[in-house]
Amino acid sequence: MKVFERVIYLTLVNRYQDILQRIHQSCQRANRSPDDLTLIAVTKYVTIEKTREVVQLGINDVGENRDKGFIEKKSALADDKLSWHFIGQMQTKKVKKVINDIDFFHALDRIALAEEINKRAVNVIKCFVQVNVSGEESKAGLAPSEVGSFIETLANYHNINVVGLMTMAPHTVEEPVLRAVFSQLRELRDFIQAQQYPNAPCRYLSMGMSNDFEIAIEEGATHIRVGSSLVGMEG
Ligand SMILES: *Cc1c(COP(=O)(O)O)cnc(C)c1O
Repeated sequence: MKVFERVIYLTLVNRYQDILQRIHQSCQRANRSPDDLTLIAVTKYVTIEKTREVVQLGINDVGENRDKGFIEKKSALADDKLSWHFIGQMQTKKVKKVINDIDFFHALDRIALAEEINKRAVNVIKCFVQVNVSGEESKAGLAPSEVGSFIETLANYHNINVVGLMTMAPHTVEEPVLRAVFSQLRELRDFIQAQQYPNAPCRYLSMGMSNDFEIAIEEGATHIRVGSSLVGMEG
């Protein structure tokens, strides 16, 4: 079934069970434990009410890509056990509005942004550096070859801790293409981790969305960001 057909026919609970099952199967194929994987429910398409239902399923990680949706949902669902992920591009001027409400920031991609985060953050912010592995012009993120020196520069910003790398795969169903993108990000993560930068433990890999999370898990994802196939597209 295509994603949009799933979205129409399955209820939220069914979709969640379906995704859990697919996560388990991917973990089995890759000989990994589902415990090492965080499922982030991306709620950007849906209302606060629907987001509440998602959280009631037992999901503790919520992702939003815009400051408005982020603030609305976080304040409506105030709950200590939830972790809030900001997964989208952030304008420098929006940083001070949201940065201290974020548990994980997935889209660090430039020094000017790092500088502003460092200035506005009250505590150390856990960040993923976004990498444009596929090299598509439309995509945000650093080129893989820029990541090492970027992280070295970040050493000056004490409120930033690089917990991992993030990428968005191209819109394609071609499995070898997706697999190559995800495995390149994993290799880059391994390389950065081996440098033992004090400001960049870089343990995590944020990769995989509705259409490609199974391949991402097989290639080592630790955080998958699943929107439409879990929460649906409306309401
Ligand atoms: C919207 C979005 C997702 C979720 O996409 P789906 O294909 O709906 O699962 C994941 N990551 C980012 C950065 C997004 O903007």
